[in-house]
Amino acid sequence: MLPWVVRRTRLPLLWLRCVGCRSESATTGEGRFRVNANGKLLDVWLLVRCVSCGRTGKLTVHERTPVGSFDPAELDGYRAHDPELVASRLLDPLLARRNRFTLDWKDAWRLDTPPARPGEAWPVQVEVVFADPVPVRPERLIAQGLGLSRSEVLHRVKCDIPLRRPTSTGFAFTVMAGD
Ligand SMILES: [Zn+2]
Repeated sequence: MLPWVVRRTRLPLLWLRCVGCRSESATTGEGRFRVNANGKLLDVWLLVRCVSCGRTGKLTVHERTPVGSFDPAELDGYRAHDPELVASRLLDPLLARRNRFTLDWKDAWRLDTPPARPGEAWPVQVEVVFADPVPVRPERLIAQGLGLSRSEVLHRVKCDIPLRRPTSTGFAFTVMAGD
C-alpha cells in the first residue's frame, strides 16, 4: 500500500474578524504567548495580528487557572513561546471553538506522495496519513496526488468515506484501472 502524507508547511492563518478594521484574516506570526499572573491564578493568551491593519488581539488559552495545575514544562513552553506549543494550541479545535475562529489552510500544507513506479499495475491502494489536522476533500486530494480529473476520481476510486466531505482523519482508497 502506498503511503501519502498530508502535512503543514507553516502555521495556518485564522478567519477571525478584526475589531478595528473588520478584516477577517489574522496571523499568529512566529507565535507568541502572553502569560499574566494574578495571585495564584494565571491567564495565558496566544497573540494574533490582523493581516490588514496589524492590530493585535488575544486568544484565550487558559483563563484564571491555578498555577499549580499547570505542567511545569508546559508553563515553560508558554514563557519561551515554544513553536511546537504554539502549533499544538493553534490547531486544537477547543481553542478555535472557545475563541470563535476557524483556520485558513490555504497554501499552508502539502501532500507528499512517493514517486510513481513505472509499470505499476492497477488497482493501486493508497493510505493517506495526516501529520497535521488539515481538512481536505478526499476527491480533490486524490485528483491532485494522481494527476486525475475529479470526474475520473469519482469513477475510478473506491473508498469507505464520502469523497466530497472534508476530513482530517486518515483513510485508505483503491484506484481502479482507467478505460
Ligand atoms: Zn484589522
